[in-house]
Amino acid sequence: MSDAPPKVPGRGSGRVEDLLSESFPRMLMVQTTSACNAHCVFCPLPALRKEQPQGRMEQPLFERIIREAGEHPEVACINLFLMNEPLCDKRIVQRVFLAKEHNRKAQISLWTNAVNLTPSLTDQLLASPLGSLGVSLHAHNPEAYARATGRNDFHRVLGNLVHFVEQRLAKRPDLALVIRYVDASSYISPEERVELRRFWAEGEVDLDIDDGFLGRAGNLEAPAAPPEPLRRLNGCKALGGPKQAHVLYTGQVVLCCMDYGRVSDLGDLNKQTLSQIWRGERRRAALEMLFGQRDAEEGFLCSRCELAVPGGEECQCDPDIPPEDTWAGV
Ligand code: SF4
Repeated sequence: MSDAPPKVPGRGSGRVEDLLSESFPRMLMVQTTSACNAHCVFCPLPALRKEQPQGRMEQPLFERIIREAGEHPEVACINLFLMNEPLCDKRIVQRVFLAKEHNRKAQISLWTNAVNLTPSLTDQLLASPLGSLGVSLHAHNPEAYARATGRNDFHRVLGNLVHFVEQRLAKRPDLALVIRYVDASSYISPEERVELRRFWAEGEVDLDIDDGFLGRAGNLEAPAAPPEPLRRLNGCKALGGPKQAHVLYTGQVVLCCMDYGRVSDLGDLNKQTLSQIWRGERRRAALEMLFGQRDAEEGFLCSRCELAVPGGEECQCDPDIPPEDTWAGV
């Protein structure tokens, strides 16, 4: 008797073929630098960056990616961040302009810890075609902020963020803004939860208060992570997940923004176009494992992820979610 899990209708091979039928991703994440200026306890980067090469994306590679995307009017979202702190890139504003110039229909987004969000950079970003900004602030008092991020400048960062919120209301009310806090039990007290809503009430800010953090596909200890690597999977619960292209500063394309270990090598933009990688054999193999057409190989990224749907369970992922709605998700 086969030990394969029962087949769940409507998923599997059809889903893989649907994803591979798209000639180009509608959502891109581009890591223009691998740098970060915080040491958040719920991020794998502080430990990994000691053992991994780090660097900035060369401008010719960045321009090639953005120009190729510009040939595809279906591109809806270009996120100029990926496992990094994008405001550590001194060219980031120039890159926002360039991305928009070649992709008029796409929303250009950044996600930052606001450490470098000085009044001067606020002016530049608000004068740019940036469509949305996410901010990971994480705590609402200096002690908790230091524990969460390893930084001792909470009041300076908060002051800069308040300045950004005020200036945005005056100059760019169309610019979407999300402020994220994480792990309510450790870093935000119940009273602060209430206080936060009052504090940002007039800023027209979307507050996102997460009750915990993810294991980042096995890169961190996290309570909800699979205790053993999954051998059979049936999809991904993340909004962006496998529908989004993730480009490291080197040009390596990885499967997901969870891949801090850089293990899912789908291709190299120094040797191939993104379109070739997107429909390439390596992506096909990864999708076949993710959607349960075959067993996951040892070390497969998604096998350690709490957002993977175990084989035999029905995948509730919404394949038709608009790309514009995914920028603030994972
Ligand atoms: S299962 Fe996890 S690692 Fe795999 S694509 Fe989804 S979010 Fe990423």
